[in-house]
Amino acid sequence: MKKRIFRSIIAVAMTVLIAGFVLAVSFLYGYFRDSQVTQLREELAIAALNVNRYGEEYFDGFDSSVFRFTLVAGDGTVLYDTQASAENMENHLDREEIKEAAESGRGSSERYSSTLTERTFYEAVRLENGDILRISASQATVGALIIGMLPGIAAVILAAGAVALILSERMAKKIVSPVNGLDLENPEKNDVYEELAPLLTKISRQHRQISRQMAELKREKDEFDQITQSMSEGMVMLDKRGFVLSINAAAMKLFEVSGSPEGRDFLTVDRSPEMSRAVREAMERKRSEFRGERNGREYQFIISRIDTDGETAGVVILCIDVTETAFAERSRREFTANVSHELKTPLQSIIGSAELLEAGLVKPEDTRRFIGNIRNEAARLVSLINDIIRLSQLDENSGPVPSPETVDLYGLANEVAAELADRAAERDVKVTVSGGPCMMSGVRGYLYEIVYNLCDNAIRYNKAGGSVEINTGFKNGSPVLTVSDTGIGIPPEHQSRVFERFYRVDKSHSKETGGTGLGLSIVKHAVAYHGGTIKLDSEVNKGTAVTVTF
Ligand code: ADP
Repeated sequence: MKKRIFRSIIAVAMTVLIAGFVLAVSFLYGYFRDSQVTQLREELAIAALNVNRYGEEYFDGFDSSVFRFTLVAGDGTVLYDTQASAENMENHLDREEIKEAAESGRGSSERYSSTLTERTFYEAVRLENGDILRISASQATVGALIIGMLPGIAAVILAAGAVALILSERMAKKIVSPVNGLDLENPEKNDVYEELAPLLTKISRQHRQISRQMAELKREKDEFDQITQSMSEGMVMLDKRGFVLSINAAAMKLFEVSGSPEGRDFLTVDRSPEMSRAVREAMERKRSEFRGERNGREYQFIISRIDTDGETAGVVILCIDVTETAFAERSRREFTANVSHELKTPLQSIIGSAELLEAGLVKPEDTRRFIGNIRNEAARLVSLINDIIRLSQLDENSGPVPSPETVDLYGLANEVAAELADRAAERDVKVTVSGGPCMMSGVRGYLYEIVYNLCDNAIRYNKAGGSVEINTGFKNGSPVLTVSDTGIGIPPEHQSRVFERFYRVDKSHSKETGGTGLGLSIVKHAVAYHGGTIKLDSEVNKGTAVTVTF
């Protein structure tokens, strides 16, 4: 900007200088020419008077350094000249001023010298005797004048340049400093140059537009943050270099990062080879997924590529906790395998016995035993199928939704004790019910299953002469059922697993005890249905106590 101002000032100064110079020279030159001509005419008039009176003697002793006089006869012959010898001079009749004077009594002309550096003015007048008197004087031409003034002009230009330099420096500073001091945050509050007003208005408009867009962006980001931060699924966004752009709280927890890893390589967050491979694959093929364990839980990682304007901008990693689903899937697979096995065993036994009977290979005295075996196995199958049906009803909440009613746990306990009295007697186990009335809201059928299965197990896994106690009551306002026995107990390593389907502590004796391996599973589901909790206390050879709190 300073350079421009300097150049402009120099240009203006030079233009003004040259224009002034040209005007002055042409004016002065015209002025001097006119006064020269006037002076010549006056001198000629005086000289003509004197020559008329005294003849050419008038020029004797005349100082001819300023003006030159020439006396020419009417035929053009030069009679006398104050600066040259008349004999050597040619005929002057063709000279313009002489011709004019001969014709009209007065003539004038001007001519340039051969070098063009001088111009000569001529004035001529016809004398009384017919001769013509001419006066002439020379003057330097404009060109010569300018050439003569060149050193002066150069000096003036240099001086003007120096002044322009100093002035431009100061002016540039003066012009630029208000521009530098502009408050671009509030463009319209500036009162600097009128010419800048449209620019400042435009900046102000853009300012408002940018502020609006920024507010909109911030709102969208806040919205996005709120959604992602409250998500239970982990979400991480990476740029195309694999650096973290954003990470939500759930992902921070699952990857166990404390400080925000935003702006850092995702490798600092998770350096597992499967993750690196999956991210790379998603970048190339748009999507990838894998299952992995983090923090003792199982996650499904879904990685999707983000494209903007046809270019890869990065990826988003979604981490979904599938621990429960995976467990359920596994259980279902195991359950199917177990059910097939459990059904097959009694069926094979029934088929074997039936075949022997059919082929007449059973002695008549053994027939009863074989038929009894078929009946027992069939009964086992029925109870197994009943258990499976009950379990699947509880499991999937299939069938009509059972309606809750007010049930007395104490009354139920007595019912169960009565129902199982024969079986208890068979095994020489004493069943007692203690506590008092315990009213609660629940599904009667499910609550009956709970008490029945716990009591059934307490008798089944007891010793001869042992006892079972069913206690009902309230603890901290909640209905509590406890079934304790003095039986064989459950070894500690099995205690956490006995509620799994078909899990039995002693697999080899399962047939003898007659259990299906589903009893405690049914209990677990029925308790969960009522929102209760189960506690198992057991000691090998001493006994077991199962407490259900609703
Ligand atoms: P089952 O039909 O075989 O009894 P359950 O699911 O009811 O199946 O029980 C699972 C296993 O837990 C049983 O096979 C048994 O080994 C053990 N168990 C359950 N209750 C008791 C108990 N009161 N005392 C000792 N062991 C028990």
